[in-house]
Amino acid sequence: MAKRAAKTTRKFIYFFGGGKSEGKASMKELLGGKGANLAEMAGLGLPVPPGFTITCEACAEYYAVGKKDFFKEIKKELAEKLEQLEKVTGKTFGKGPNPLLVSVRSGAAVSMPGMMDTVLNLGLNEETVKAMISLTNNERFVMDSYRRFIQMFGNVVLGIEHHDFEHVLDSVKKSAGKKLDTDLTINDLKKVIKQYKKVVKKATGKDFPEDPMDQLYEGIDAVFASWNNPRAIKYCQINDIRGLLGTAVNVQTMVFGNSGENSATGVAFTRDPSTGANKYFYGEFLINAQGEDVVAGIRTPQQITIKGSKEWAKSQNVPEETRKEKFPSLQEVMPEAFKELDTIKVKLENHYKDMQDLEFTIEDGKLYMLQTRNGKRTAAAAVKIATDLIKEKLISEKEAILRVDPEALDQLLHPVFIKEAEEKAEKITVGLPASPGAATGQVVFSAEDAEAWVKEGKNVILCRIETSPEDIGGMNVANGILTARGGMTSHAAVVARGMGKCCVAGCGDVEIDYKKGSFKCGKHTVKEGDWISLNGSTGTVYLGKVDTVEPELTGPFNKIMKLADKYRKLGIRTNSDTPHDTEVAVKFGAEGIGLCRTEHMFFEGHRIIAFRRLILVAETVKRLKDTLEVKTLTELEKCCSKEQLEAVTQYKKALDELLPLQRSDFIGIFKALKGRPCTVRLLDPPLHEFLPHDDAGQKEMAGQMGINKAEIHKLVENLHEFNPMLGHRGCRLGITYPEVTEMQVRAICEAAAEVKGSKPEIMIPLVGNVKELAMQKQIALNTIEAVKKEKGVKLKVMIGTMIEIPRAAVTADKIAEEAEFFSFGTNDLTQMTCGFSRDDAGKFLGDYVNEGIYEYDPFQVLDQTGVGELVKLAVKKGKKARKDIKLGICGEHGGEPRSIEFCHKVGLNYVSCSPFRVPIARLAAAQAAIK
Ligand code: ADP
Ligand code: MG
Ligand code: MG
Repeated sequence: MAKRAAKTTRKFIYFFGGGKSEGKASMKELLGGKGANLAEMAGLGLPVPPGFTITCEACAEYYAVGKKDFFKEIKKELAEKLEQLEKVTGKTFGKGPNPLLVSVRSGAAVSMPGMMDTVLNLGLNEETVKAMISLTNNERFVMDSYRRFIQMFGNVVLGIEHHDFEHVLDSVKKSAGKKLDTDLTINDLKKVIKQYKKVVKKATGKDFPEDPMDQLYEGIDAVFASWNNPRAIKYCQINDIRGLLGTAVNVQTMVFGNSGENSATGVAFTRDPSTGANKYFYGEFLINAQGEDVVAGIRTPQQITIKGSKEWAKSQNVPEETRKEKFPSLQEVMPEAFKELDTIKVKLENHYKDMQDLEFTIEDGKLYMLQTRNGKRTAAAAVKIATDLIKEKLISEKEAILRVDPEALDQLLHPVFIKEAEEKAEKITVGLPASPGAATGQVVFSAEDAEAWVKEGKNVILCRIETSPEDIGGMNVANGILTARGGMTSHAAVVARGMGKCCVAGCGDVEIDYKKGSFKCGKHTVKEGDWISLNGSTGTVYLGKVDTVEPELTGPFNKIMKLADKYRKLGIRTNSDTPHDTEVAVKFGAEGIGLCRTEHMFFEGHRIIAFRRLILVAETVKRLKDTLEVKTLTELEKCCSKEQLEAVTQYKKALDELLPLQRSDFIGIFKALKGRPCTVRLLDPPLHEFLPHDDAGQKEMAGQMGINKAEIHKLVENLHEFNPMLGHRGCRLGITYPEVTEMQVRAICEAAAEVKGSKPEIMIPLVGNVKELAMQKQIALNTIEAVKKEKGVKLKVMIGTMIEIPRAAVTADKIAEEAEFFSFGTNDLTQMTCGFSRDDAGKFLGDYVNEGIYEYDPFQVLDQTGVGELVKLAVKKGKKARKDIKLGICGEHGGEPRSIEFCHKVGLNYVSCSPFRVPIARLAAAQAAIK
């Protein structure tokens, strides 16, 4: 919980408007994003309806002392600010001939679309309604505002279901034979209001509150209370938002976009939030509408500019005449207001030096600004905008690098549809290209189903008439989102872009029937579970699966990557075991392999048979060597009996079979690396993992080996360990079975001898004691020498170790005497330092993170205070013993931005991560160097 401000200095409310502002943009933590930017805009002299912001600190206070005491505490200050607002506006709250109506808007430091609820037109009651009617001479408008107020207040503050109100509205519309809200007459609206009040009475047992002061207090209360609602909490979880004080409340003078045909409300982006393009002013508006109407998709929104409007019409197959008549642009219908908005757009971009997301309202031809913030954007847009802003000299290279979220780059690396496949696919409709990308999946119609199906390992496309904040969880797991209603700024579109998820919105032809679990689209009926594909860049919807390809990484992406390479200090390597993964990683900019695991190679095809043969006799051979007191297989062959010789021969044969297979794997990888270094880790997992554990598998193996199943079963039992992760694995295997180490090193060296320019680095895993390393190293050195002589080549092979056992970290100075490099294996190091079994910790780690015992899952984000200290210690000791020791990290953390920053700070030479995280790591490393 937040610290409470000292009693004497407490100021909970900041005023804006009327030519000055008590707040400014940099005060987001205190005023919330919305409040801080309203203050900033008002301070810049832009037309912002005056109001005041009750701070996030006040929210913390509300939770600390409780509602009742809190309201006592702010009563005086609130009254003062309200009076100031009345003075500035010349209106009076809750009474008089010119009543002051306000909106009560939430707004935390981080923007959370749709998470907190807003109430508009607050202050209306029987008395002020009358005054408003005689003031405006527009009864319809006043009634429209009143019904909206009752509905919003009823829903947000009184907690009455949205659909209870929608039901009333629909039935009045139906009985009056009207389709749109705007078709309703004064009398229709009066009917709606009367019935709305009944809904309220029925649900709460009380009349709708008449006293505007009560309304205001209840409104503020509801906003603060909503800070803890499940939707807000879920949003914070998904987006890793922590440590906020609470939300602020903005109380702002109402301006009315619903006062007639010369009024409007809209939202706009200063650049295209999907692509980052700056071709025209992107945005949507509705005439005679209020607040969320545009985003709620109740009518088809119109475009801001003529250019945008024409493009929209083209994409929607709307003929120019219809466009002009029914969907003209703001530029055409309200040229004056448009001009002012366009000027403000430029001013705000230059001021904030970033793409802005704007809300505006036009009341009787006069423009008002209601919100600005740095607009959410796709990764493609983020990269384009950042590089464009450098060109426009608004920001520096370093600032541009910091503007792009490394994690978001992931969106750019994933497949797009194969052109030919897409051309052949059956197109069923085109909606709005709300968020780019390609998605294929099975149709589901609810967020819950999406989550359940994905848990079963399925790929889904979430299809909704429109989405709402309750759907966040399902949207997050779906491959793509399809909505039947809503525009480019609808909830689905905004949230999908933020998530980097493919979304096609507003597919007017799609008729979804939730009950039947299907949708109709022209002649097609698509049922739950059917496959469809979405192209979020064109808005096209296809029947069935469409094949995808890797995207091309050129243009702005390439520019940002080059800049990142210019500023970063860390090297970036990849974890890869195959030539294909290596090629992908090199294409993404990997400078080498930091971890090549050899065991994966053993599983492939019939190699597993050879390896199992080896396991079958390995222990017998080891025992023979011990009893006959010999060191090598050659010596053993000489002195053992004929019977015993059989096991030795099988062991050798298996090794001989494995050698060329391993060698050819390394040849492939070294070729793909084209002279880049490659750290190869010798065999690591316990042998048990290579054996079949089920009956059928054991039977099959017995057949292959020509022995009976019972023997296999016995072998499996024998190798069973209670704690395999702390058992016979890593270098311990090489110590028991030195021939395996020898075979692996030989395969590496022979491959290196064949592929010119290869730079192999041999990594001995799971070392805890320097003697383990020394012994394994000696085998490796002997083998390297042997291969050099046999092949008559020069080979430079580095030998190092992983630091993944706490004892290794603590004795790193000793270990560095033998190791030319360290690679921090932070998966095992975390497991062993925290004492969490990685395979079992899933059961409780979630709770640990929720309870704040660990800030993050330590297997995902490096635990700096614990594991990190060991890393630091090992770095210090390692460097002391060997000045030029090479240091890297190859755990999962090597691709995680926060952990990468840590690696930069402690002075590692490189990080290594999975191929698809290489670009993320490059950018994160640059950010770490700049910060
Ligand atoms: P959100 O954070 O969900 O966007 P907002 O507080 O911005 O919620 O408000 C919801 C809608 O109401 C927006 O379209 C906004 O422009 C509009 N709105 C808010 N306050 C006013 C006001 N004082 N006058 C007119 N419209 C308003
Ligand atoms: Mg909202
Ligand atoms: Mg808003």
